[in-house]
Amino acid sequence: MAYTSTEAHSSVEKGAKIAGYGRSNVRGIPVDGRYAMIPQRLDEAIAADLEAGLLPACAVATVGTTSTTSIDPVPAIADLCATHDLWLHVDAAYGGAAAILPEMREVLAGCDRADSLVINPHKWLFTPIDCSAFYCRQPELLRRAFSLVPEYLRTGEDEIVRNLMDYGISLGRRFRALKLWLVLRTFGRAGIAARLREHMRLARQFAGWVEAAPEFELAAPVPFSVVCFRALPAGAAPAGAPGGDTGGDGDHRAGEDGAGADQLNQQLMDAVNATGEVYLSHTRLHDRLTLRLAIGNIRTGEQHVRRAWELLSAAARRLRG
Ligand SMILES: *Cc1c(COP(=O)(O)O)cnc(C)c1O
Repeated sequence: MAYTSTEAHSSVEKGAKIAGYGRSNVRGIPVDGRYAMIPQRLDEAIAADLEAGLLPACAVATVGTTSTTSIDPVPAIADLCATHDLWLHVDAAYGGAAAILPEMREVLAGCDRADSLVINPHKWLFTPIDCSAFYCRQPELLRRAFSLVPEYLRTGEDEIVRNLMDYGISLGRRFRALKLWLVLRTFGRAGIAARLREHMRLARQFAGWVEAAPEFELAAPVPFSVVCFRALPAGAAPAGAPGGDTGGDGDHRAGEDGAGADQLNQQLMDAVNATGEVYLSHTRLHDRLTLRLAIGNIRTGEQHVRRAWELLSAAARRLRG
C-alpha cells in the first residue's frame, strides 16, 4: 500500500501504476482546512491496512501541493514512516525551492528523514522545462532496480563515472543539469533568494487586495507565491478566512449558489485570459471552481500583478452587473 494526501499531484498515482502497486493500492489520506495531510488519518489508514493483512510500503508527503501549495506535516509523517518501516518520499516539486531563503528553510523540516525527495527547478528556479532534481538516500537501491547494461553499452569508464542510465528508466538523456548550473552560476544563491522573496511578497500583496475586496475571497492560505481566490456572486457573503481546521462550515454556498459562483469565476477567468495580458489557472477546492494566480516567472514584477488585479476587478464588476 502507498499513502498520499487527497491533494497530492496525479504523478503519485501514475508512479504507483508504473511501479506495479496499481491505483487501487494508493490510499488518499484526508486533509485539514489548510489542505495539509492529517497525520492521524494516515496512522488510522496504516492500522486498518495492517489489520486487513495488507503491506504498508510507502508514503508520499507534499511540500507545496499543486492546487493550493499546502505543506504536509512532514515531521509527523516521518515519525509514522519510521514506526511502520515505510519508504518516505517527499514531493517538493514546487515548494522545495523556497528553502533557499533562510526564513523559509522550515518548509523542508523533516525532509532530512525522507528516503527520497524531488524538487523541480523547472517549477520555481527559472530553469526551462524539463529539469527535476531527485535525491535518494540509498542510490544503490535505484541501481539494483534499474541497472541493465548490455555489452554494447560497456565502456572503460564504467567504474569511475556515475551513469544516470543506471538510476532510472531512460537510457539516452539530455544534459539537463547544464541549464540549472547556468541558472545557479548566473544568479547565485543570494540572487535567487532575492527573486523568490519578491515573488512571495507580490503574492502576499495580491492576497491582501483579494481579502480587502468584498466581492472576492481568498480560498486557501498563501505560504509561497500562488494565490487561490474566488469572485463572489452579487449578494453572497464571504465564506470566511481560510485555514480553519474544519474546512466544512465555509462551504454552505457550494450547493445553492455553487453553480452560479462557478459560472461567475469561469467567465471571469475566460475574460481575463482572453485579454492576453495575464494567464490565470484554476482548480477545484471543496468542489468549487477556484482561480489561481501563480507568480514564478523571472520577469514577473509588481506592475504585472497590479495589472492582473485591475483586469480581475473590472471584469468582475462587469459580470456581476
Ligand atoms: C508540477 C508538480 C509535479 C509534476 O512535475 P513535472 O515534473 O512537471 O511532471 C509533481 N508534484 C507537484 C507537487 C507539482 O506541483
